Amino acid sequence: MSSISKKICLIGDFGVGKTSLIRRFVDRQFSDKYLSTVGVKISRKSLEVTDSEQPKHLTLQLLIWDIEGSSKFKGISASYFQGATGAILVGDVTRPESLENLSEHLQAFLKVNPKGKVAIALNKSDLIDSEYLEKYRQIYSFSDDSSFVATYASSAKTGTNVDNIFQSLAHSII
Ligand code: GDP
Ligand code: MG
Repeated sequence: MSSISKKICLIGDFGVGKTSLIRRFVDRQFSDKYLSTVGVKISRKSLEVTDSEQPKHLTLQLLIWDIEGSSKFKGISASYFQGATGAILVGDVTRPESLENLSEHLQAFLKVNPKGKVAIALNKSDLIDSEYLEKYRQIYSFSDDSSFVATYASSAKTGTNVDNIFQSLAHSII
């Protein structure tokens, strides 16, 4: 069984739930692998994924990059994005402005990684009605963009769709 590593980045405005999504996804099994560096945290998680070209399972180690704060987002974005094969763009459904900023984050990521893949997390879905969620999901699906993988309404609090976001991004980048 072969194993490969891929870097992915969490991107989004301050307070949308980037760190919480990573903790939910990673820490229930790998809490000791939460690594700290200056300004950036890198978590690791291994996933079993099926390679579309061969009917074989392969182990994918995700290196999940989390930026601390983001007031200086624009200044450090290029080096933060460097070498990433994918990104999860995170918005907060209770803060429409953080959703409107998603396409700007998308462009910034693609500028550095034109062939990167991107999944969208409309996070804190536990805080609003499902009819609004569906509306947001339609608006924030960048289906015309070849980088686009999927949009999910997620909740780091309840766990809703957290695995699905990481899994679908993982499948798209192998
Ligand atoms: P970051 O700045 O993007 O890393 O955001 P954090 O992960 O630090 O989360 C910011 C705040 O939002 C914290 O108080 C979290 O507890 C809260 N939060 C994050 N995700 C959710 C969620 O899905 N639902 C709710 N209700 N709160 C959340
Ligand atoms: Mg954070």
